[in-house]
Amino acid sequence: MDKVKVGINGYGTIGKRVADAIHQQEDMELIGISKTKPNYEAVMAQKMGYNVYTPSDKTSKMKDGGIKVAGTVEDMVNEADVIVDATPKGVGEKNKELYEKAGVKAIWQGGEDHEVAGFSFNADSNYNDAIGRDYTRVVSCNTTALCRLISNIDREYGVKKCRVTLIRRAADPSDIKKGPINSIVADPVKLPSHHGPDVQSVIPSIDISTMAVKVPNTMMHIHTVNMELKNDCSADDIKNLLAENPRMHYLEPGITSTSETMELARDLGRPRNDMWENCIWEDSIDFYEGELYLLQAVHQEADVVPENIDAIRAMCELEKDADKSKSKTNKAMGIGTK
Ligand code: NAD
Repeated sequence: MDKVKVGINGYGTIGKRVADAIHQQEDMELIGISKTKPNYEAVMAQKMGYNVYTPSDKTSKMKDGGIKVAGTVEDMVNEADVIVDATPKGVGEKNKELYEKAGVKAIWQGGEDHEVAGFSFNADSNYNDAIGRDYTRVVSCNTTALCRLISNIDREYGVKKCRVTLIRRAADPSDIKKGPINSIVADPVKLPSHHGPDVQSVIPSIDISTMAVKVPNTMMHIHTVNMELKNDCSADDIKNLLAENPRMHYLEPGITSTSETMELARDLGRPRNDMWENCIWEDSIDFYEGELYLLQAVHQEADVVPENIDAIRAMCELEKDADKSKSKTNKAMGIGTK
């Protein structure tokens, strides 16, 4: 079978990681990435051997900055079978017309609304519903981690109700513009936070309420999770269930923080320190008055990357079996190798 040709529109935190992950897959070909500025990321993309495309009005700026321009974004879109749009929140929506005109499949990220694609995706939750689709939205980092956790537990024991508090990193490590730098922000004040409805955009049957605060940190999010289940089970049952999923990682003994988790990623030799898995404190998994409790950390820059790969496989009908697609993605990226 011919490889599926993929273009990445927007080569920032998410785009550069998805580009590398596509490059690792046997059934996909990265035809190029797009950049709007000739900055260090564009230079690195070129060093990686990736074709760099640019909006037509930025061509001379890119060439002046020493970037060899492969063509316009339109050229990339016309050449691709599927575009992964990883432009900043709100920009992706504006690109839809371009994708429609070219008749190319497109994947948006969690910063866009569900309506842009009309379908929100998580590989553990609704892979089969993505098969053959033209448009898909891979949900945000927080929603991805919650969907993984909830759908795995729901399939086995039934989730009656879920309550989550999200302690969110305020910005990504390379982000020099966002804050706060000395505050904890109720975000939002009015409840629920958007994360609960976002989970429901993937798994509509789940009863979930979420609250969120933003903290002055760039490393990871933490979720405090509480669930009422439909069927009886023990903490060990939950521990054994989650241990079977390569996209769940029990944190090594002694780790009590996100900083140690990122140090672990470095020790594991992960590219860009990426922890693609839900990072769960196994000892936090417990029942209190019949309700399940646990704590997980989420590497916001990384966990959506394998989901984009599985979304491409489903949409382009490269693999109709969700587990087989996830295994291919995991193997190519090194997920679950600990
Ligand atoms: P980013 O700002 O790091 O990267 C966006 C890239 O798009 C930048 O390189 C920017 O130069 C480029 N760009 C801007 N306008 C463009 C245009 N018109 N055409 C082509 N490229 C353009 O953003 P990000 O953090 O990677 O976020 C991308 C999407 O992924 C958003 O929807 C975001 O909500 C979502 N997301 C982000 C994270 C995260 O933690 N960073 C996690 C999950 C999902």
